[in-house]
Amino acid sequence: MKGLTDKFGRKISYLRLAVTDRCNLRCQYCMPAQGIDIVDRKELLTYKEMYRITRVLSELGVNKIRLTGGEPFVRKDFVNFLESLSFNNKLKEINITTNGALISNHIDKLVELGINAINLSIDSLQEEKFNEITRRNVFKDVYQTLEKLEESPLKLKLNVVVQSGVNTDEIIDFIELSKNKDIAVRFIEEMPFNGKGQRTMDEVWNFNKIINHIRNHYTSIEPVLSKKSSTSKNYKISNYKGTFGIIPAFTRTICNDCDRIRITSTGLFKNCLFDGGVFNVRDFIRNGASDNELKELFISTVHRKPKNGFIAEAARKNDVSESMSTIGG
Ligand code: SAM
Ligand code: SF4
Repeated sequence: MKGLTDKFGRKISYLRLAVTDRCNLRCQYCMPAQGIDIVDRKELLTYKEMYRITRVLSELGVNKIRLTGGEPFVRKDFVNFLESLSFNNKLKEINITTNGALISNHIDKLVELGINAINLSIDSLQEEKFNEITRRNVFKDVYQTLEKLEESPLKLKLNVVVQSGVNTDEIIDFIELSKNKDIAVRFIEEMPFNGKGQRTMDEVWNFNKIINHIRNHYTSIEPVLSKKSSTSKNYKISNYKGTFGIIPAFTRTICNDCDRIRITSTGLFKNCLFDGGVFNVRDFIRNGASDNELKELFISTVHRKPKNGFIAEAARKNDVSESMSTIGG
């Protein structure tokens, strides 16, 4: 059976799987204060279903998985699920994106399970501002997680959503974290949708604005070679131990080398962050699909992956407005 290749020759090897749509925080750019309308528990994929989907995809060449959400660690037994995934030896990397508020006690276990990297979302190093952005008082917990992760052997990336008028004054402070520590700080362009509709921004902090801001501060910026499929353009300050990168999430200049597919917590298969969902794999499974039928469906769907995020967005019936916690950011 063929692997997963689209009609532009892009090979798919990376699955982003949202294990839940629930979250313990309420980041302003991600969801409204009252949260999003969460789905009924029985609509969520079960761990057994997620395990099967991952196994089938790994037999088709997927060798990297990112667990995300919502907040993955709010789902009960998430660590046990990680343990079961760790037995799939076709997966070369298991990565997790987390807000870090609930994980400081799990770090040793994550190391033991061979988790590759943690992407920790932290948008401010100032307690008051952090708590305002997330609408929860969890800065101390998240910072403790950051410190523990720095000391652990897990690869650590920090996700910082650059928010106009909120945290742009901290861009340099974040880069300074990479001076003595092997941390990859990644600045993400804010996408103006948060589960409620368009979010207005005073100024657009896109890739160019972010890099120009950094160039105004440092004279010794070196490009860092990254994998072709990397979501970020990466750099380092000469003699700094760590690196920094910018993710052009909204300006979408990285689509040519995309190697990713997404599955949301309710089983919606997405060829692109910006598409509206192609089919529901949960329903397909619950209607009795065999592994071979699943494989055929994945192969034919990936073949139709849109060329880029603009084409995917244009083909949608409705505007992109859903929360990233539903999409599985
Ligand atoms: N709850 C986890 C976390 O925050 O890391 C995982 C899910 S969250 C949706 C994944 C990533 O998407 C986070 O780094 C978050 O900052 C980012 N994100 C959410 N909404 C966004 C938006 N409107 N624009 C850009 N990034 C966003
Ligand atoms: Fe929750 Fe992550 Fe969205 Fe923040 S960005 S509300 S932590 S899902």
